[in-house]
Amino acid sequence: MKESTTNEPGKTARDPVCGMTVDKETAIKRKIGDRTYYFCAQSCADVYEEPERELKRMKRRVALTLLGVLAAGVLKIVALFGLVGAIMSLEVIGGLEVYGLAIFLVATPIVWIAGFSIIKGAYLSLRNRKINMDVLVTAGVLAGYMYGAINAFFPAITGQYQGYLEISIGILAFVLLGKYIEETIRRKSAASIRKLLELRPTTATVIRDGKEVEVSADELQIDDVIIVKPGEKIPTDGVVIEGYSSVDEKLLTGESIPVEKTVGSNVIGATVNKTGMLKFKATKVGEDTALSQIVHLVEEAQASSAPVQKFADRIVGKFVPVVFTVAAVSFIFWYFTAGFSTAFFALLAVLLIACPCALGIATPTAILAGVGKGAEYGVLLRSGEYVEKARKLNIVVFDKTGTLTKGEPSVTDVKTFNGFTESDVLMFAGSVEKSSEHPLAEAIVKKAKDATVKLVDIGAFEALPGRGVKSTINNRSVFLGNRKLMQEQGIETLGIEADLVKLENEGKTAMILAVDGKVAGVVAAMDTLKENAVEAIRQIKEMHLQVAMLTGDNERTAKAIAGQLGIDDVIANVLPWEKEQAIYKLQSEGKVVAMVGDGINDAPALAKADIGIALGSGTDIAKETGGIVLIRDDLRDVALAIELSKKTMRKINTNLFWAFIYNAVMIPVAAAGLLNPIFAAGAMAISSLTVVSNSALLKTAKFKSKKYND
Ligand code: ADP
Ligand code: MG
Repeated sequence: MKESTTNEPGKTARDPVCGMTVDKETAIKRKIGDRTYYFCAQSCADVYEEPERELKRMKRRVALTLLGVLAAGVLKIVALFGLVGAIMSLEVIGGLEVYGLAIFLVATPIVWIAGFSIIKGAYLSLRNRKINMDVLVTAGVLAGYMYGAINAFFPAITGQYQGYLEISIGILAFVLLGKYIEETIRRKSAASIRKLLELRPTTATVIRDGKEVEVSADELQIDDVIIVKPGEKIPTDGVVIEGYSSVDEKLLTGESIPVEKTVGSNVIGATVNKTGMLKFKATKVGEDTALSQIVHLVEEAQASSAPVQKFADRIVGKFVPVVFTVAAVSFIFWYFTAGFSTAFFALLAVLLIACPCALGIATPTAILAGVGKGAEYGVLLRSGEYVEKARKLNIVVFDKTGTLTKGEPSVTDVKTFNGFTESDVLMFAGSVEKSSEHPLAEAIVKKAKDATVKLVDIGAFEALPGRGVKSTINNRSVFLGNRKLMQEQGIETLGIEADLVKLENEGKTAMILAVDGKVAGVVAAMDTLKENAVEAIRQIKEMHLQVAMLTGDNERTAKAIAGQLGIDDVIANVLPWEKEQAIYKLQSEGKVVAMVGDGINDAPALAKADIGIALGSGTDIAKETGGIVLIRDDLRDVALAIELSKKTMRKINTNLFWAFIYNAVMIPVAAAGLLNPIFAAGAMAISSLTVVSNSALLKTAKFKSKKYND
């Protein structure tokens, strides 16, 4: 199976950094792993290569320090057996110990070559008037190295050689090894998303001038007609124009059951066509495809951090001066009670153990893992911010039409009044609704057509959002809509109230038709619930969250539908522009609110909510305003998204705990002069690794709300 667009034969390739199509002849080529990549310019090549190279450099540094540790170990053994004198025939040359000089020769390249990146990092940080982990490590290493060197060259000043050069090697070895392991784990979780992009097929079969031709997937254009045979990958996003098949969309949605596709269905690039032949028209290509958008969103989210991280950063900033104070105090104390050597030992240990580096990665690594895990299931967490809010969540508000219901109502009842017949009512209603795009309008037009009622031309048309429509037919005024609309027009509805109530109690939306200021009829329509709505609500209630429904429909209809779904709270009669206000009202009662909507007409409410959850259509991801986007149109993913956010937040908290506990427990031990600086460096590396692995474990987490799927 070929996985890269760039290894394919053909004249052009896509630059993986900027997305430009480049000529393979003139492009800058780079072989990374077993793949050749083509770049438009050196700068793109550098950007792409930098992380790879950096990891290689890290590996070399680790190898060099480990070699140093080995050499120091051998020297020690040699010295222990008194062999130095035997080999070199002298143990002391010109008053200097051979052993100390040999260790100096080993330590020097290690500190200055392997340790260079850290020393440079410390320099840059200090220049910005900041103190980070590099500064602490550099302070420890250089102090050990300098003192060791003085020790080796001027024993007259410091006395016999005391082993501080070994300490500086040991510290570097632990720190560099820790950094390297941390980086590889981190890279693994980030790479899984990038890999998605490489799953795009490389070629496509297109119909050009009536003939089937094979072209590179990079050359596809909008409106190209593409043929996909069974077993092939769909090369880009589009709409089926011929054929019938089932498509495996697991890659994008995590859903393992193939989805049926027929004329008019949307298909998504990189998903796999299973059973039949499909002919489809490309609607999106290149960077605009759903897959590219998803990867983009996920990467953006992974780069973001939660507000809790700012808190951690603040602590780090306050922490460092405290550490320096503790280090100085313990140095002074030990200097006067036990002498310089012990004091110096304690100083190094405090500096190293105190490094709050694990604190710095506690949040980002957890978010990286959580966002990546969500992407596997078609749940896109768009920023770390929402992860934090999910923990405090009290109430989940669902939009009714299009979210809990399919948004495709059909007419169930037609009632007539004041001498109008059923076909009169359908003629007036249908003719007016032809101009409206509301789902209810479509239902009425369909009913009129099914009843073979002839629809006529109308006068000026006006849609009255949240209330209905108005127009004129043969100079007669026509209003169609809810009670609110009739009230506004001063049209008497008392006589039909009993009929309306009856329909509404059945969960139907009753619309009143008034002609020339008098009620002519009532048309009732009913929407069907989405397949998994009932279970989705149950799952959320199991999480001890309040569930509410928000709708422009009337209270009685809304309550009837809420009853079927097991929803207790109903906020009805809300005009479209009042939905945002309704969310605000809940927030001002001190609640943390999640709003679930279809993301198009609910955008302001989604934005207002603490967590906006947008149900994506699978293809229009970028437009959505939600903080969380569900790629599948499955309401059960709401519970999954909340659970995932909570799990991620829990990871952040346990990470912060692990990061702190090492520092809290070990600093006093170090200040007491009981901790070897090498072990201090080791403990620090382990604390970072604990945090990184704890985050990585999120990949294997099990989800209660996921039971239905696996
Ligand atoms: P929702 O919040 O459920 O999406 P809307 O705000 O779009 O509902 O509409 C609220 C109510 O206004 C509907 O239940 C219906 O009674 C009335 N209405 C809106 N548009 C129309 C229309 N085109 N024809 C008839 N009634 C309409
Ligand atoms: Mg709606």
